[in-house]
Amino acid sequence: MAGIRIENLRKEFGSFVAVEDSSFTVHDGEFLALLGPSGCGKTTTLRMIAGLELPSSGKIYLDGEDVTFNRASARDIAFVFQLFALYPHMNVRKNIGFPLLSQGMPKAEIRQRVEETARLLQIDHILNRSVSGLAGGDRQRVALGRAIVRRPKCFLMDEPLGTLDAEFREIMVHELRELHNRIHATTVYVTHDQHEAMAMADKIAVMNHGVIEQFGTPQEIYAKPATMYVADFIGSPPMNFMRFTSGLKNGDRSILLDGVDVAVPEIHKDMAESELALGVRPEHIRFSDASALRGAVYGSEYLGTNQVVAVETQSGLIKARVPANRSFQIGERVGLEFNPAKLALFDCTSGRAVP
Ligand code: ATP
Repeated sequence: MAGIRIENLRKEFGSFVAVEDSSFTVHDGEFLALLGPSGCGKTTTLRMIAGLELPSSGKIYLDGEDVTFNRASARDIAFVFQLFALYPHMNVRKNIGFPLLSQGMPKAEIRQRVEETARLLQIDHILNRSVSGLAGGDRQRVALGRAIVRRPKCFLMDEPLGTLDAEFREIMVHELRELHNRIHATTVYVTHDQHEAMAMADKIAVMNHGVIEQFGTPQEIYAKPATMYVADFIGSPPMNFMRFTSGLKNGDRSILLDGVDVAVPEIHKDMAESELALGVRPEHIRFSDASALRGAVYGSEYLGTNQVVAVETQSGLIKARVPANRSFQIGERVGLEFNPAKLALFDCTSGRAVP
């Protein structure tokens, strides 16, 4: 396996910039998710790494070697578009071995590789079965076997679970992560689904309009979003924003929100009067009668162990994830208390987190 490094990678289609000067490293054996909404440049980035699209500028390194201008076939990368298209007239062994056969590998070596791969995926007992009679989970494992049997330098996957229903998707997310834990294949995985990215990836690159807004572990991205865009894209419901205008000073530890002093993490910068937003995740809000920051319950959504309660405040609608053991009446007045250590502040003009 090999690491991938891209440096200032850019792709223009005419005057349209699909990917803007992106740089990141995927270390050997790491799983990176490229995450973002449709059209943000994920597939274009992946296709450039695969050699299916030539960059307008920038460099691509595979295992330390500059492969920017190498043909796709010379990169030893497995590009997985669709995990689930099997050859229905072939048995499991032939389906898994097919990529090796088409490479012209000797039969005995194919046999050995297929058997090793099948053991890894715990499907060695069904090698001689026809794929058409297989249950769903086994079919997916055969498809995975076909992708990994070549032992490529890395895997590039473009929404491989896109066509599956929700239940199957969840099974496959687990299966793919398990497989990754066993074979540690360097992987770049494109998805617009934050749950898939959070559940599988070691690192996530959140993309927006061709720009990587943040690159980090799922935990970093969730707990310390670099921009309002990332804070809004990750989490369900997403982070709440309460806008206010202020000139904060280095050393400040509180802000004035709806006329109430709210404790925040220490500010490390002097700021001119500007429009700011306090960011708070729903699970970091408590209801407390003692709090002067108040609002009226707008609605609630019961989720079993907890509930999401929407509260109308002077700063807009705030969603809180609170225990489900108490029910709220629409219009009921509640006090809101935030966990000060978990709050984020953003500059609304740049959209960036305030240091
Ligand atoms: P999706 O999930 O919808 O594929 P994506 O994030 O993968 O989204 P890309 O497919 O990389 O996005 O596309 C990024 C932008 O570049 C889109 O606006 C798309 O229309 C544009 N684009 C992609 N390929 C081409 C092309 N060959 N010619 C012109 N524009 C293109």
